Amino acid sequence: MSADSVTRSGRSLPGGGALISAARCVTYNQSNLRAAVQQCIGALPDLQRVFAEAERVLLKPNVLSSWQGPEAHVNTHPGVVRALGEILIADFGCRIAIGDSCGSLGHGSTARALERSGMEAVAGEIGAEVYNVDQQPRRTLRSEGSVIFKDIPLPANLDRFDLIVSVAKLKTHLLTYMTGAVKNLLGLVPGAAKKNLHLLAPRPDEFATALCDLYAALPRSVAVIDGVVGMEGRGPSNGALRRVGLVAAGADPVAVDSFCAQVMGFAPLQVPLLARCAQRGLGVAAPEEIQVVGEPAAAFAPTNFARPPTYAATLAADLVPRWLVRRFISAFNTTYARINQDICRQCGECERNCPSKAIFFDEESRTYHVNRARCISCYCCAEVCPHDAVEVAPSMPTRIKEWIKGKVKR
Ligand code: SF4
Ligand code: SF4
Repeated sequence: MSADSVTRSGRSLPGGGALISAARCVTYNQSNLRAAVQQCIGALPDLQRVFAEAERVLLKPNVLSSWQGPEAHVNTHPGVVRALGEILIADFGCRIAIGDSCGSLGHGSTARALERSGMEAVAGEIGAEVYNVDQQPRRTLRSEGSVIFKDIPLPANLDRFDLIVSVAKLKTHLLTYMTGAVKNLLGLVPGAAKKNLHLLAPRPDEFATALCDLYAALPRSVAVIDGVVGMEGRGPSNGALRRVGLVAAGADPVAVDSFCAQVMGFAPLQVPLLARCAQRGLGVAAPEEIQVVGEPAAAFAPTNFARPPTYAATLAADLVPRWLVRRFISAFNTTYARINQDICRQCGECERNCPSKAIFFDEESRTYHVNRARCISCYCCAEVCPHDAVEVAPSMPTRIKEWIKGKVKR
């Protein structure tokens, strides 16, 4: 088996399983981070081989927010990117670029995000290139193997990298349950094309399939996770912070995400993206097939890690047949976005980033609203709202449950 096919299938162990590593790191102290990343890489011969074979490496952190700094923990911490970059340069002789396309549309938003997140400074310090995905020439990759995402807009020069390292943040996600190494690669799709994927694949299960298409079409990637401080509940932008103390790595991003799912309290095969990747032979998601060097998931798992409020509705939509979802369940069981007028400051960022044009400005009341009929529950609006004014309106069963609870209390 070639190194590339090992990386793609994730099955690097003799019995066909995947090997990943996890190290404890409770602060963003730079020497602790470096030791943790070094420990993770040092435990994985297959990952070392991949790094040794790569000359030009793109580090792809989560740089979702264009206005928040590292203290918000929405983006990957720059210290983790720095530790990894330094090790790849010193120990493997790699040439490094650091890049992403952020979650907000608008002129200069990714440049701002790379600066605010600390990535630009790290690049300067370690001698890496800043790779602003939005500013690269583009091409459309025709992917015949795709189920949904067949014409994939990408930077035209992405193939100058031998390897992509997805340096993702450990966070929950309103649409996909979790943001992991595989989901993080969506940031290689520039600007508005990223948002438009929600129109092509509006349902959570379709979106997972489209992300899986993208993952299959991209050059090979490996994973490093910043879970020193993670995010629970209303991630990827507005959740609560939890100190998890984890750095994880592996040559199979699906296996690393499966481990992270367990840390967050999800059954990995119930995460639609991981299930699809495993079905298509793009990695190992079943926990019993993953060998962890270092501490097991249970050693990191914080108790009561809050799931996203969309979890039950998304899971139900993924489990029932599509025709049933379309006709009956979706009307009854979906959550949708709602603007809290007491918090909203009328900045219009949500309207600019809504792919289905469901958000409108009411001239009379001078307030923004969501047209529920148009809302596809992608939560791009919640991701970009700088004031945390976008709420998840609970599904009908949740509203009924809450109503009953209220009656019983009285
Ligand atoms: S909901 Fe948030 S993003 Fe939208 S207008 Fe209000 S403050 Fe701005
Ligand atoms: S209103 Fe928000 S959740 Fe609904 S489609 Fe627009 S961005 Fe997505």
